[in-house]
Amino acid sequence: MSSIARISWTGSALLLLAACATNPATGRRQFMTVSETQEIQMGQQYAQQIGTEMPPLANAPLQSYVSGIGKALAAKSERPQLPWSFTVIDDPVVNAFALPGGPIYVSRGILTHFNSEAELAAVLGHEIGHVTGRHSASQMSRQQLYGGLLMGAAIFNSTVAQNAELLQQGLGVLFLKYGRDDETQADDLGFRYMAREGYDQRQMVRVFQMLDRTSPASAEGRPPQWLSTHPDPGNRVQATERRLERGRDTTARLIERERYLRAIDGLLFGENPREGFFVNGTRFVHPDLALEFTFPQGWKTQNSKQAVAAQEPQGRALMAFAFAQGTPDAAARQFFGQQGMQARETTVQAAGTSRAGLFQVQTQQGVLEGLAAFVAFGGNTYRFLCYGGQGIMTALDQPCRRWIGSLAELRDAQLKGVQPNRVKITAVPRAMTIEDFVREFPSTVPIEQLLVINNLDAGARLTPGMLVKRVMK
Ligand SMILES: [Zn+2]
Repeated sequence: MSSIARISWTGSALLLLAACATNPATGRRQFMTVSETQEIQMGQQYAQQIGTEMPPLANAPLQSYVSGIGKALAAKSERPQLPWSFTVIDDPVVNAFALPGGPIYVSRGILTHFNSEAELAAVLGHEIGHVTGRHSASQMSRQQLYGGLLMGAAIFNSTVAQNAELLQQGLGVLFLKYGRDDETQADDLGFRYMAREGYDQRQMVRVFQMLDRTSPASAEGRPPQWLSTHPDPGNRVQATERRLERGRDTTARLIERERYLRAIDGLLFGENPREGFFVNGTRFVHPDLALEFTFPQGWKTQNSKQAVAAQEPQGRALMAFAFAQGTPDAAARQFFGQQGMQARETTVQAAGTSRAGLFQVQTQQGVLEGLAAFVAFGGNTYRFLCYGGQGIMTALDQPCRRWIGSLAELRDAQLKGVQPNRVKITAVPRAMTIEDFVREFPSTVPIEQLLVINNLDAGARLTPGMLVKRVMK
């Protein structure tokens, strides 16, 4: 949990006008029910939602570096007039995605895996290609998105249901999933755009090799998001090699390995423990907020940007901890005043001033009942929420109260002082293998992971002066 997240999404009736137009980037006729104005508007709405769910990385020099490259590429695309924006999100998974009309995102996780500016340009070019090819806009026109979008509107209107959704789907963001044809086309367009800015198109092959290698190692067991938003159209490496054979721009020679690696020196690597982590299964500690609490034994836990949550092993009940706004009084009034909510006050044992209530609420999934408590602690107000289906409180009341009562200041100096891993760029002093390098310049992650982020094979020979990524606290 890293920021105050309040998701609001007001479903609006969308007036759809059908039109068939020739796409300026692809030259193909597209059936479009979404005008450019609508396309831009939707992208901006999504961008607001993403801003709360996946906050930008607090690293101004890196943001402006990425944005400068992105904007230069977009300026030479067929749709230079769009409100393009390029944002590095504070997410360790390997991912990049585009919203209709111009907003483009790359995760800090994918940045740790690139090894040159040309590789970054290839991925930014690919994302720009999704926008110029109007892939999400035409997808919207095919109504694939609306189901999700409107369902999202209903779910996000209820704070209670929001957390259920959160655990079911991980992050609540409704990603656009492209088709294989769109992916091939975005690869074609990215290939074209990177050369227009002078980048060596051969580096695109390395990107796809890298993405092939990332699967389990990259995200601590989680599959890379990249593949879930960009389905593999089938041997991308070979397809790109064929593009190169058909003709590459041989005047485009920029790789900029050194400049890129210098730009990511010090970048956060992996999960950031300052934003909270679990010790011994269900004890949650948050160093930056200086607090801790403990969920019931055996519950399935999750720490996301919006909330820290735990699910009862059979999935019958949920506990979720999040920021609340205002005083406990004001936050409780707002929460229990929601439409369809029936509540009666109760008291809880908590480490700070609190307001609590037992409630029942009618949702799309039926009647939910639960206990919510708002606690002022260490300068913030937090919401503790326990709920499940009708009748659950008979079993949930006591565990819920014990959980709320477990809130305490984090005093353990070692846990409080924990530091995140960071990428450290180191120059190789003399000719050696990557194995020699790792012995001489230790990292906090296994060599397998270093091979992946450096896109090197075991036994790789390093030359003097070559820059290599290490990972250190
Ligand atoms: Zn894609």
